[in-house]
Amino acid sequence: MNEDAAQALRALPSVDQVMKTAPAALAAERHGRTEATRAVREALAEMRARVRAGAAPPAAEEIGRAALSALDAASRSSLRPVFNLTGTVLHTNLGRALLAQEAVEAAVAAMRSAVALEFDLSTGKRGERDDHVRELLVELTGAEDATVVNNNAAAVLLVLNTLGAGREAIVSRGELIEIGGAFRMPDIMARAGVKLVEVGTTNRTHPKDYQGALRDETGLVLKVHTSNYRIQGFTKEVPARELAAIAHEKGVPLVNDLGSGTLADLARHGLAHEPTVRETVAEGADIVTFSGDKLLGGPQTGFIVGRADLIAAINRNPMKRALRVDKIRLAALEATLRLYRDPDRLAERLPTLRLLARKADDIADQARALAPAVSEVLGEGFAVEVVACNSQIGSGALPLDDIASAGLAIRPVNGQGGRLNTLADVLRMLPMPVIGRIEDGALILDLRCLEDEEGFLASLAALDRAALEAP
Ligand SMILES: *Cc1c(COP(=O)(O)O)cnc(C)c1O
Repeated sequence: MNEDAAQALRALPSVDQVMKTAPAALAAERHGRTEATRAVREALAEMRARVRAGAAPPAAEEIGRAALSALDAASRSSLRPVFNLTGTVLHTNLGRALLAQEAVEAAVAAMRSAVALEFDLSTGKRGERDDHVRELLVELTGAEDATVVNNNAAAVLLVLNTLGAGREAIVSRGELIEIGGAFRMPDIMARAGVKLVEVGTTNRTHPKDYQGALRDETGLVLKVHTSNYRIQGFTKEVPARELAAIAHEKGVPLVNDLGSGTLADLARHGLAHEPTVRETVAEGADIVTFSGDKLLGGPQTGFIVGRADLIAAINRNPMKRALRVDKIRLAALEATLRLYRDPDRLAERLPTLRLLARKADDIADQARALAPAVSEVLGEGFAVEVVACNSQIGSGALPLDDIASAGLAIRPVNGQGGRLNTLADVLRMLPMPVIGRIEDGALILDLRCLEDEEGFLASLAALDRAALEAP
């Protein structure tokens, strides 16, 4: 080390000196003295390395600022809210359904206080956790009885294990689904202790295929909604009603895993029809399973509705205890289900439906109104254009149906593809990150799910233009 560097190192402030600066004091106030001191030591070590490499020794204030911003960044939640402008309304990786205000309030109230979770207020005796939603579910689906577990994957696992452990389950080859995140029907069957009996072929399954497979060892016949794909062309499946008759002839229950399953008629809100749970129950399924946070628009939960004797058996399964939901979600769920009692106001109160029902024209108006401000923030290097685009429901509902939408297409002006990724990175670093999708050389911000325009603009205002312009 030369004499200059040694002198520069001696010029670095001490930990105590840095701790006396305003930013370090703020760091101590926000994050505690121990953490602040540690961050200052770390910042000093980093500066020392830089000085050794020839940099000028920074002032105590600057080191304090470095420590403060490191602590602030590290304390930001990684589960923080984002703007979902991907165009996929029920985005599994972004947490699926947004809860209705009524559900949020119910959840918060349940978090803050003791609740009559398994306590019957009218008798003062022990109650049932499911009682809070059982009646609503029965009313909304037409099923005899209902229960709730952690998610639909858990619902399927529990149903298979209860009705089919050590026995066989008959499924059409065309319905052996894989849902994202390694939910594969054959694997779930194996874990549930059920022997899978595949019938038919990938594209065609006939009544005689099921009839030929039904025997004393059969525990259930399973029908699975092909949530995320369609088999098209020369195809044949056995309709649920007919399949129910075939199963019942042998005294075997029919289980229908609906996946998304909705409680409302989507056609009423300008969307394509998706089978409702009520229809599926009416078609003769003995058990129907579906998700709480897909089209239903509630918290993550899995529903099992159907025949009272089968639900009773499911409730006796010791696995049920391991898959149950907590009071917070149950409170949000009950409030969400209650909204379905007033179908006229559902689209206004349930965010999932409200967002799905937005008209492309209205979204285009919103895009036109926001474009100048976005363009201003991004500067000359990017062109911002209002475009028509397509949204998707997501989470395996109507996978082939696009919903006409609108948004902003952002392109680097001189056509350097790399900067598009930089733009996406910079938007993800905003205080409330903005998540779009890259398509045909543009970053598309589909505005279907943008309700908080003010928050969006405020977040954009914090954009780091220097990072955007860096080579
Ligand atoms: C989504 C889905 C599941 C899994 O539901 P989760 O709520 O994500 O656990 C199971 N089956 C079908 C048909 C689905 O679409």
